[in-house]
Amino acid sequence: MAVNAGSSSLKFQLLEMPNEKLITSGIVERIGMNKSIFMIKVDGEKNEETLDIPNHADAVNLLLNKLIEHNIIASFDEIAGVGHRVVHGGDQISESVVLDEEKIKYLDEIIDLAPLHLGPNLTGIKAFKKLLPNVKQVGVFDTAFHQTIAEESFLYAVPYEWYTKYKVRKYGFHGTSYKFITQRYAKMMGKDVKDVNIIVAHIGNGASLCAIKNGKSIDTSMGFTPLEGIPMGTRSGNIDPAVVEYMAKVKDKPVKEIMNILNKHSGYIGVSGVSSDSRDLVSAAAKGNHQAALAIEVQAKRIVDYIASYHNYIGGAEAIIFTAGIGENAKPTRANIGSRLATLGVEIDEERNDTRGVEQLISTDNSKIAVYVIPTNEEVMIARDTLSLL
Ligand code: AMP
Repeated sequence: MAVNAGSSSLKFQLLEMPNEKLITSGIVERIGMNKSIFMIKVDGEKNEETLDIPNHADAVNLLLNKLIEHNIIASFDEIAGVGHRVVHGGDQISESVVLDEEKIKYLDEIIDLAPLHLGPNLTGIKAFKKLLPNVKQVGVFDTAFHQTIAEESFLYAVPYEWYTKYKVRKYGFHGTSYKFITQRYAKMMGKDVKDVNIIVAHIGNGASLCAIKNGKSIDTSMGFTPLEGIPMGTRSGNIDPAVVEYMAKVKDKPVKEIMNILNKHSGYIGVSGVSSDSRDLVSAAAKGNHQAALAIEVQAKRIVDYIASYHNYIGGAEAIIFTAGIGENAKPTRANIGSRLATLGVEIDEERNDTRGVEQLISTDNSKIAVYVIPTNEEVMIARDTLSLL
């Protein structure tokens, strides 16, 4: 089972391994609020009910019992392992691990690095451990894939002690997605992972890019937190940090509130004033909304800045891969980014680019760098890593 526990939600997929067949999936939402929602897919049909689910332990209990009630499993013994998406592994965890007491203690210690996400992740892990004490729980970390990034790239040019004493450095996120794409691309090309030199643009509501050289992450756009990098659905991406103090002063608001605006009310929604969803922006822009069009262009410009820089840092990327909600689905966004990369010899093929949500080469045969769409699948990556540790 692949699990992604958030502060008030818990997403799950049950997969048959090693053939990676999806058995069922679902989500528990509004945990700890009234009218919680439990949804599970039974024979492909959504089965939803509203009830009160006070905490994560109750959510896990309900989910496990529903699997039996709907005849998806006959007993809990059929669940061989549970893989948890964990947002942060600090600088000690560079691969997926079995979550024993020592690892859980370490995660408790680094909780301040990602309090909004790591706390709920741990709550989910502890709930599963309690209810399935004999089943191995595995942590699959968003940061782990980026632990190969060299000091010159992960270090901020601030007092060195900020790094040694306070762990301030670039960690990077979306690592599970980048690992999946790297493995998938290698397989598609029939080559070894260590021969893969690519740039991956994971553009969803949260969005980042990764430079992959010899199959390893050498740089990524998100940083100490997911706020760094390109503008996203609601996040600003890079800004001059001096803006934070300035806006706190002129608005007479605490820094915390300014940070909340940078995380939740910036990016697409901040610039456009329309929506954080790319589909809404595309249709508003088509009707002549200047700010909606601008929000798209501001992001595309920054994405291209990263791609050009990563192409150089890799020493020549063989391919650029688009993935996640926008990367997989938004043809005009891919075409726009492609045309901004013409000086690197990138050429998008209009017909090939007319695709959504499937693996596809979208560049012309003349393009100096191949461009692909490859749908990501973090849950499968979690299940693979879990299986390999059982
Ligand atoms: P994710 O966070 O990966 O689920 O991606 C969410 C983003 O993907 C949202 O901004 C959606 O608007 C975007 N998205 C999904 N489908 C499409 C589509 N057909 N065209 C453009 N954007 C899409």
